[in-house]
Amino acid sequence: MQKLIYMDNAATTRTDSRVREKMMPYFSDRYSNPSGLYNFARENKKEIEESRRIIAEIINAKPEDIFFTSGGTESDNWVIKNISSNYRKHIITSKIEHHAILNSCEYMETKGVKVSYVDVDRQGRVETGNIEKNIEGNTGLISVMAANNEVGTVQNIDEIGQLAKDYDIPFHTDAVQAFGHIPIDVKKSNISFLSASGHKFGGPKGVGFLYVKEGKISENLIHGGSQENGKRAGTYNVPGIIGMGEAAKIAYENMDYRMNYEKELRDYFIEQVFNRIPYVRLNGDFDNRLPNNANFSFKYVDGESLVFMLDDMGICCSTGSACNAGSSKPSHVLMAMGLEEETAYSSIRFSISHEISREDINFVVVALENSVERLRQYSKDYTNMNS
Ligand code: PLP
Repeated sequence: MQKLIYMDNAATTRTDSRVREKMMPYFSDRYSNPSGLYNFARENKKEIEESRRIIAEIINAKPEDIFFTSGGTESDNWVIKNISSNYRKHIITSKIEHHAILNSCEYMETKGVKVSYVDVDRQGRVETGNIEKNIEGNTGLISVMAANNEVGTVQNIDEIGQLAKDYDIPFHTDAVQAFGHIPIDVKKSNISFLSASGHKFGGPKGVGFLYVKEGKISENLIHGGSQENGKRAGTYNVPGIIGMGEAAKIAYENMDYRMNYEKELRDYFIEQVFNRIPYVRLNGDFDNRLPNNANFSFKYVDGESLVFMLDDMGICCSTGSACNAGSSKPSHVLMAMGLEEETAYSSIRFSISHEISREDINFVVVALENSVERLRQYSKDYTNMNS
């Protein structure tokens, strides 16, 4: 059987076997609703609170400031839509946010909220000065992602958080790609809201959280029972929340090792690609970059065709983000970074994990070299140039 080389960890990660083991009893023997008053229920509530405590400790927050949600999209929607209860109805965000932010912002524009979309540089970095230029008297939220899902660029959230603090504006960061992969401290970075998602760091899908400074978020997301302080009602996703807590614990215990391992492998991968394949560009900031991300543009190649060719060899990677795969539009992230449309269409993202070995990388590099060369034979520009 063909070996699967999974290099799409920005789309989702494998649920760690220890996480799965931890979750299993909550699907069967330990099925109680944690909101019950009897011991059988209270035991599950205790485990839910333990997950909350683990997550809070990791980001240097208080447990009561962590609200469980169904994932990153929900957390992002909640923060952006919360502006409707704010008397300051102006949001500043960046042009390279995930669509969970951008589409929520577009929706809020239809409700009379003003949104400023800040430019990024060619590396995908948001200049803090550009945010400052857009601040108005009624700016009620600055929302800038901690790390980009397509090109892996890590933003200077310490600086942006300080700016927000100086102007007394709440600062939200979408940390869906960052949490579990790089350190984050909500106090150090002056973060008021932080979104994260379990399945991006070895946890299950369909569960995430929103950190809310001092628990202060005026808009209740889901009305119903008293779960999550009445702000996000609905019976707890018990296995999901407990699994996410376990995944967070594992991710942070092993963070230094994993970061170093992934960085070394990623840099080796980038070096090999540049050594063996001409007309290639690395997208995103080289220094301020997620340890697991390598995003390339292969000139004279259609990115989607390349993804399919690699798939035939058991290699999983993607064009842009998972949510946008199959879209006929070029990546909004690469376009905002100033790439030409043709270059954006020739881009593919690899996101590695600690499960990838150097041998896997060597296999992928050879596969890439051959596939890129084959696809370039279909490009008139390439064949004319080489004839
Ligand atoms: N924000 C970012 C930066 C993401 O990468 C993703 C998912 O890819 C999301 C939000 C949405 O998260 P979820 O899949 O948990 O809804």
